Amino acid sequence: MLSDPLFWLVTFVVAAAMEPWSMWVHGRMWHGALWWGHRSHHEPHTGRFELNDVFAAMHAPLAMLLIIYGFEAGDTRLHHMLIAVGYGMTMFGVSYFIVHDGFIHGRLPVQFLARFRYFRRVRNAHNAHHIREHVPPYGLFLGPQELRWHRARRQRTPRIGDPGKHRASAR
Ligand SMILES: [Zn+2]
Ligand SMILES: [Zn+2]
Repeated sequence: MLSDPLFWLVTFVVAAAMEPWSMWVHGRMWHGALWWGHRSHHEPHTGRFELNDVFAAMHAPLAMLLIIYGFEAGDTRLHHMLIAVGYGMTMFGVSYFIVHDGFIHGRLPVQFLARFRYFRRVRNAHNAHHIREHVPPYGLFLGPQELRWHRARRQRTPRIGDPGKHRASAR
């Protein structure tokens, strides 16, 4: 299984695809119908945990299920692919936790990441989202690109009110 190039291809493609997926879930669901829970991440708090952690861990049971089922149910290539999907999701989830929760929000001792320009840019882009909630970037690893794209689009289109305030009042 581990020597199969397709296994790793699927793992990495799934991990990469999780970025646009998380961008969509964050923008449409967390800042939409699930704002009541995600709000805890945007408000200052003193405790170690926040309600939003439940949302952040939402995909873990599915990934675990895929991996456990893949290993238990058989030894075909299809079973291996299920494991690959679970691995890809896990890889993204762990990376997200380290960079977002650990590095940006200081919940893990990983501040050495600030030595890298890329992670500093990711942090700046994510901080922009915290300053103006309900406004992109909603993605994390491509946050700087998303922010640039969003700003370019705002400059092109004439402003009719503030889209941030508009979204907020719509909920
Ligand atoms: Zn948010
Ligand atoms: Zn955050």
